[in-house]
Amino acid sequence: MSFVKRHLERQMEEGWHSVSGPVCADCFSDYAIKAFIEANATDTECKYCERSSHEAIAAEMDEVLSFISQGLWREYDIPENCLPYETAEGGWQIVTPDDSHDVFAALDICTEDSGQLLDDLADGFSDRLFVQRDPLALSQADGLKYSWAKFCEQIKHETRFVFFRIEPPTPPTDHAWHPDDEWGEYSPPYQILLGLGDMVRDHQLVKILPARTSIIRARQHAANTSPTTARDLGAPPRERASQSRMSPAGISMFYGAEEEKTAFIETFDPAATDKSAVTFGTLQTTRDLYLLDLTELPQIPSIFDEQNYDKRPALIFLHHFQEELSAPIERDGREHYEYVPTQIVAEYFRRVFRDGDRRIDGLKFKSSRKGAGTCYCIFAAPDNCTDAGVIGSKHMLALQSVKHARIDFSNSSYR
Ligand SMILES: [Zn+2]
Repeated sequence: MSFVKRHLERQMEEGWHSVSGPVCADCFSDYAIKAFIEANATDTECKYCERSSHEAIAAEMDEVLSFISQGLWREYDIPENCLPYETAEGGWQIVTPDDSHDVFAALDICTEDSGQLLDDLADGFSDRLFVQRDPLALSQADGLKYSWAKFCEQIKHETRFVFFRIEPPTPPTDHAWHPDDEWGEYSPPYQILLGLGDMVRDHQLVKILPARTSIIRARQHAANTSPTTARDLGAPPRERASQSRMSPAGISMFYGAEEEKTAFIETFDPAATDKSAVTFGTLQTTRDLYLLDLTELPQIPSIFDEQNYDKRPALIFLHHFQEELSAPIERDGREHYEYVPTQIVAEYFRRVFRDGDRRIDGLKFKSSRKGAGTCYCIFAAPDNCTDAGVIGSKHMLALQSVKHARIDFSNSSYR
């Protein structure tokens, strides 16, 4: 078989047609395509950004199209394979396929200086229409998001305390209709908790926070009091532990932040004008703490990254979960149930989850409030917090320093 014929057959199989000219890695933002070009560069000049070098920096566009086709067909299918077609009904049924221009615009893989590249890529695949693989089913990532949403709905509005014992509903054939048989075409919603645990282990999200790391706690209080000890600035006593993001009322945990400003933003209640002072306690960890760290999730693998593609659904979900976990909740009355999902997640990771045979000591997550950074929730009770100099084996946090400030309610700050 001639080279030309073989080349044409490859194009047919992979669904693209030839676009001539070399392209460099700088013209792409996708890391997997960049790496492919760097490994397969044969030309010293890029046709698109006109960059040139003494060394090979650009790969032939046909090779790049062939590589891109592999990623595309991992994620997409052609409608001929999976959708019904009815001429009288106007063509493809159920899902409207995208053309290659829609697909490449959505993929967003070209950099700003790449000129004609986006159009050439779309032209290279213009003979095909595209639909997501299995267009009639949820994608794996959407399935995980759906399961999480179902779980949240169940524990917020249906069953909060015995959800882990709920049996799948039985068909109402041999007994009277019961409202609980209505929600049931899905697996038990708490499965998502176990799935989360597996994802945390698979992606090694339990990280060590080294001993002697500073964590800052802010307390808003009346101007005539002055918290100064670990008893005042550590985890609150159980009878005064109000509900919060990770803990229901009555269960004490220690909340803090990497920086003073974040501690203030996360704590400040603009409605509590009778509490016009704020005190910051800087506490140090007395030993290495093992935290579920959601602040440095691995990046979501590209569809062009063959080696890591199978990790993509779980990482799409974990990024979504991190955003949900830290989303601000307004104090408008709904906080009484809006915090329940994160409280249950925290309790699961505190009481049930193991990383190997290790328990974890808390969570590290990003605040989603404007201007705020990294937050900690440490599974520490008042007894686990101490003043510097009296550190025992049960202690996790020791108070190092205290700073008092007055709140300026006019601009939600302190001085
Ligand atoms: Zn270029």
